[in-house]
Amino acid sequence: MNNKLRILLDMDEVLNVFCKTILHEYNKDKGTNYDVSIIDKWEIPKELDGFWDYLTPELIENMPIKDGVKETLAKWKSKGYEIFIITGILDDEHYLNKIKWLHNVGIFEYIDDIIPTIYKHIISGSVMVEDNVEYLRKWKQENPNGLALLMTTHSNINRDISDEPIVRIKDWNEIDLVVDVLTRE
Ligand SMILES: [Mg+2]
Repeated sequence: MNNKLRILLDMDEVLNVFCKTILHEYNKDKGTNYDVSIIDKWEIPKELDGFWDYLTPELIENMPIKDGVKETLAKWKSKGYEIFIITGILDDEHYLNKIKWLHNVGIFEYIDDIIPTIYKHIISGSVMVEDNVEYLRKWKQENPNGLALLMTTHSNINRDISDEPIVRIKDWNEIDLVVDVLTRE
């Protein structure tokens, strides 16, 4: 494989701690004590009525970043890899909130482009990291030589992907290792 990789990254649950952060606000306001493991599918369960109301611009701009993201992106950048973020957005404001988050957590400088789309399969790359199995499967169909990495989260942890052309990884330490192996001579 070409040493100059193009790496495509989802944002929510891949770069940031997404549902757990929203649920924390939800529990605080409602006086409940739900654990994020209740969100065991892509859809938010019915019990969590009004969940998305807690995804405010302020919260988006202040989401915690996952461990190892910054160090890994800095390393990839120094090796000359292209780093794209491919992320779904609701509107222009949401897009700006996400860009502000990249500045706030100090990784904006490592990102070559931020592409707002849910049609992730139209973007070609060497590697895609995503927590949605369907998006990854479609992307792999269009990018058969690419490596599709599934970030393990509460919503996909029980999902059997043994028949999928997808590799499961658990954290940024594993992403870093897998990408290193790809570029080994
Ligand atoms: Mg995601």
